[in-house]
Amino acid sequence: MRFSSLHLDSKISASHAKAHPNADPVVVPIYHSSTYRFKTMDLYHEPNHGSNHVYRRCGNPTTENVEVIINEIEGGAGSLVYGSGLAAISAVFLEFLSAGAHLICMSPIYSGTFSFITETLTKFGVEVTFLEVEKEENFAKSVENSIRPNTKLIYFETIANPTMAVPDVLGTLEVAKKHKIPTAIDATFASPINIQPLKLGADVSIHSCSKYIGGHSDVIAGVVTVANYEHWKNLKLQQFTTGSSLSPFDASLVARGLKTLALRVDRISENAQKTAEFLESHPKVTRVFYPGLPSHPQHKYAKQVMKQFSGMIAFDVGTAENAIKLVEVIVLNRAHIPKLTVLLVIFQTVKLITHAVSLGGTESLIEHPLTMTHGKEEIRDERRPDVAPGLLRFSVGLENVSDIIGDLRDALDNL
Ligand SMILES: *Cc1c(COP(=O)(O)O)cnc(C)c1O
Repeated sequence: MRFSSLHLDSKISASHAKAHPNADPVVVPIYHSSTYRFKTMDLYHEPNHGSNHVYRRCGNPTTENVEVIINEIEGGAGSLVYGSGLAAISAVFLEFLSAGAHLICMSPIYSGTFSFITETLTKFGVEVTFLEVEKEENFAKSVENSIRPNTKLIYFETIANPTMAVPDVLGTLEVAKKHKIPTAIDATFASPINIQPLKLGADVSIHSCSKYIGGHSDVIAGVVTVANYEHWKNLKLQQFTTGSSLSPFDASLVARGLKTLALRVDRISENAQKTAEFLESHPKVTRVFYPGLPSHPQHKYAKQVMKQFSGMIAFDVGTAENAIKLVEVIVLNRAHIPKLTVLLVIFQTVKLITHAVSLGGTESLIEHPLTMTHGKEEIRDERRPDVAPGLLRFSVGLENVSDIIGDLRDALDNL
């Protein structure tokens, strides 16, 4: 049928657009089409639909571009991107665990992961053993001692939130290999520039792309990369049915973030090292936890597996009052003072650094775990980790490091 002969309402709704034959863009475009044209029935029935796409929930050229790049960095058999880091993490648990299975999990871990395990997985009859990375004298040995006949997954993070504790990654992977138990590692805090878990022998590597990979605090996304193609196929099928795939708009932001990932992580790691050294020298700071400091309890393990130590620092200013004072915007309402032209004085102790949760962006962010990400409201299960009241979690950004240190110095001197 000739398009020109159609009625106006048919013209408006008819899908006649074709990909531009002479456009060969440098950047993968945002393919937002929810469905794809099939020229023949045969094509639909070919393996993988003749490499055509079918429906966005099942795969999309913009998201697949991101998957190819991340898989390349990680050295895996395939990657899959998800609508958030937690969607990626829960997909891994659903793939490896079933009713009656046992999970060995590091503690502390990301609060959302902890809550998914304690609130959702346990409802389906999954057993879990938490091992506190800071309290176990030999984490890898404790993992080995916790193995049961029904242990189906060992799960840990490269750098624990919020205390920056680092497990013995190599030792734990060795134990897992010996007992033929799959391992999944959430390497978000380290970033894929500083560690590639699959190359060390892990089965699954996970990142929240909302952090370093996206890198601009403007997207929520997650990624899973697996060493074994069978796991990729199962996860892909699972993603069809859970509907957890990433939107192409968000995927394009992740793809843009990836282009500068190495540059950003290198600069942030350098900034963080210098900032951690400064904090350690300040009299108002009682403890600094940064895997790149020789004083870090597991510095030895961090050095074994990480190129640099990324941008996450935890430091203790003694009391919750001090911690809150350091980050809070103090608003002095002077309205009651007659003849005063300034009605409102806003005073913030840290000025360059932003008081907000999340991490891995271009801007330095600070938060107080006890009253924010790690409070009773956020994590209901009693096994939630103990967090020191004066602990602050700091995500170092791309600013000039003298300005970051200057801001912290002013704020600390004020306490
Ligand atoms: C942020 C984060 C997650 C969750 O990622 P979202 O994208 O927020 O769902 C998981 N693990 C770690 C270590 C994180 O920092």
